[in-house]
Amino acid sequence: MPDDTMPDRKQSHVVVIGGGWAGWGAAKSLCEAGVDVTLIDGMVDPTGSQPITTKSGKPFEAGTRGFWKDYPNINALTEELEAGNIFTGFTTSAFWSPDGLEATAPVFGESPQWPSPLGQALATIKNFKRLPIQDRLSIAGLLYAMLDLYRSDKVFRKYDDLSAQSLFIKLGISDRLINEFLRPILLVGLFKPPEEVSAAVTMELLYYYALAHQDSFDVRWIHSKSIAEQLFEPLSRRLMSRHHLRVLGGTVVTRLNVSSETQRISSVEIQSVKTKEVKVIDDVDAVVLAVGAKGLQSLMSQSPECSKAAPELVAAASLGSIDVISTRLWLDRYVPIAYPVNVFSRFESLKGAGGTFFMLDQLQKESERALWGHDQPQGSVIASDFYNASVIAVMSDQEIIDRLMHDLLPIAHPEFRNAKVVDYEVRRYPDSVSHFSPGSFRMRPPLETSVETIVCAGDWVRMGDKEHGAKGLCQERAYVCGLEAGNSLIRRKIVNGSNQSKTIQHSVVPIRADEPQVVLGRVLNKIVMDQIDGFGLTLPWLDS
Ligand SMILES: Cc1cc2nc3c(=O)[nH]c(=O)nc-3n(C[C@H](O)[C@H](O)[C@H](O)COP(=O)(O)OP(=O)(O)OC[C@H]3O[C@@H](n4cnc5c(N)ncnc54)[C@H](O)[C@@H]3O)c2cc1C
Repeated sequence: MPDDTMPDRKQSHVVVIGGGWAGWGAAKSLCEAGVDVTLIDGMVDPTGSQPITTKSGKPFEAGTRGFWKDYPNINALTEELEAGNIFTGFTTSAFWSPDGLEATAPVFGESPQWPSPLGQALATIKNFKRLPIQDRLSIAGLLYAMLDLYRSDKVFRKYDDLSAQSLFIKLGISDRLINEFLRPILLVGLFKPPEEVSAAVTMELLYYYALAHQDSFDVRWIHSKSIAEQLFEPLSRRLMSRHHLRVLGGTVVTRLNVSSETQRISSVEIQSVKTKEVKVIDDVDAVVLAVGAKGLQSLMSQSPECSKAAPELVAAASLGSIDVISTRLWLDRYVPIAYPVNVFSRFESLKGAGGTFFMLDQLQKESERALWGHDQPQGSVIASDFYNASVIAVMSDQEIIDRLMHDLLPIAHPEFRNAKVVDYEVRRYPDSVSHFSPGSFRMRPPLETSVETIVCAGDWVRMGDKEHGAKGLCQERAYVCGLEAGNSLIRRKIVNGSNQSKTIQHSVVPIRADEPQVVLGRVLNKIVMDQIDGFGLTLPWLDS
């Protein structure tokens, strides 16, 4: 019997750049395969062990993030870490416009289950307060286009070249449905208006989050502390103690050195954010790029050999990204609003941004005390995020808070007008989110690059034959892509674990299977459309 505690070959060293969901996914799959891993992030503490606090010592989180029904890999991680019951129940969401309540999204899993999209239509029939039924029905063409989306790679790319707005118009979707429903959904789902997002990614998003199953839109939240504290902290602690993971916080990778001789990564240069001291890590066997477009841009601009060897990374680095602002407000009284999760739509004062607000005193009721740091709880605590927020970002913090308190929140409940803000925090995150612009698909980074020792991970990465059902700006997608990036290095034997017999790939759980009517619709559409294509004809909205 071989002694499997004995190292049987050189253990590889991988540098994971980025400590978001993608970076942690990659670190997990590689560490558990016995690979030596260093995870590096510019954030002071990517491990979640030092909670982010405001100047006055109250907890803060960069954006409030939901966990939708089909997040099987994050659910599996939560169970594996024995993190306990960290989520709220599934919540109702409300959509507000200057006219008042526009619609509510119920917890779809609580109604009798029907095939999609019948179940969603039945469950929401009374939930749209203003939108006439004929406008709602004008979405039919889009449902057909969703069946057509994956007919072939060529067709997918044609949809990707179109903006969502031009597809909506070509499909005859009513102006009211676009402006009162689809536009606000896209502003909070892909953080851009329909003119600026790919029609293909829009359909992927709508299908995955709302249409695949009746209860696809059901969403829940962390019920105390932050995602980093509840999930990254136990994960990082486990990887550090069991697998000797090294984490370098407050450190940015400034340059990737690729050997012109071997075309492999040879070293990475790092810099301390605080002291500006530069060091070189030169025992690097592979790198996982778990960064967004902004991070990739600065890396590529400093890495000439890498840019030459992997021009696809230079192309990806040229893609745009989106500004986000996160705020928190502590009020002197409780505002008894009916819904904990809320979306702003069509407000002039948003200046084209998307906006959400979350009643943390409701979502995190059991740990309300902690929301106030060292102070006694006095009233509601609100987290409000703005997406596509470049125009709002130039306003002062006070102006942003005034806009919330005077223009936006009182539409949802008049008591906001009487409430006083006893404390607030506003933080800006420029260029922090992937922008799925029309035509961007072909430029997004691939999981495996031309340099075999460099792989990419993140919500914007094209996963090729490892593509997962989780789509769009999505924690599950980023995490899965990280797992797959690590798996790719292991599967292709680019890296070795300390012990060959234990160098196995991390499991990835698929999302629920498509419903039979969708599968049948896709098959029939392909049969018919392939015939029509044979005559040189195409669907009118794809005819460029
Ligand atoms: C406000 C907001 C709300 C959201 N809401 C939801 C939601 O409700 N549900 C949901 O599922 N998703 C949501 N998302 C999207 C989701 O958070 C992202 O899709 C996901 O977190 C992306 O993870 P990532 O690891 O790919 O990227 P990121 O989390 O952006 O991680 C990239 C990391 O790389 C680091 N980095 C970059 N360059 C370097 C460098 N040179 N050296 C070292 N480190 C570097 C950055 O500091 C960053 O930490 C939201 C996002 C935001 C911003």
